Amino acid sequence: MILSSPHESQKPKKVLGVDLDDVLARTGDAMASFHNATYGTNYVRDEVVDYNLGTVWNCAPEETQRRIDEFVGTEFHHQAEAVFGAYDALKHLGKTYEIAVVTGRHEGMRDNTIDWLTKNFLGLYREIHFTGHYETDPSKKRLKSSVMTEIGADLFIDDALHFASDVASVGIPVLLLDTPWNQGVVPEGVTRVASWTEILAILASKETLR
Ligand SMILES: [Mg+2]
Repeated sequence: MILSSPHESQKPKKVLGVDLDDVLARTGDAMASFHNATYGTNYVRDEVVDYNLGTVWNCAPEETQRRIDEFVGTEFHHQAEAVFGAYDALKHLGKTYEIAVVTGRHEGMRDNTIDWLTKNFLGLYREIHFTGHYETDPSKKRLKSSVMTEIGADLFIDDALHFASDVASVGIPVLLLDTPWNQGVVPEGVTRVASWTEILAILASKETLR
């Protein structure tokens, strides 16, 4: 057993899982710019009411995935901005939580993803998990709820209703960042939030309630 010094906190940090796309990165905006420039469409992120971009792009699943993979290798991805307030929020929450990024992206996107995170969130997360949501090979795919359970997460933040439902189903509370593509009734254990400002306010009020 390792004894910590009296100066260190005796209480282990809680674990916070955060999604990447449209939670930390403004991927929807960057993706729209990429797709409009490359494939001649003309849409903006706020018009996207379906999580599946194949519906927006009128593409079959294979072509949709190919374009998403292509996007991740472009400057549109590299230059994507961080979601407003996310950097300061993670910096603040890092005092109370170990932060794990848990993304639906697949392993093949690791290098470009790490580059973006290094540029925008350096030192603010402990680990990253690629769950391969769109992988067709089941052996390359994981449920976010399995990862959350494995890392002992206390809380999860995502923008996709299906991921929120999955994680809430194993009893881990979820904050769902409001987007046009996640409208509808949220399941039990999921709280819809408007912004990182609201997330910080909710978590601060929980701290004072203890
Ligand atoms: Mg997302």
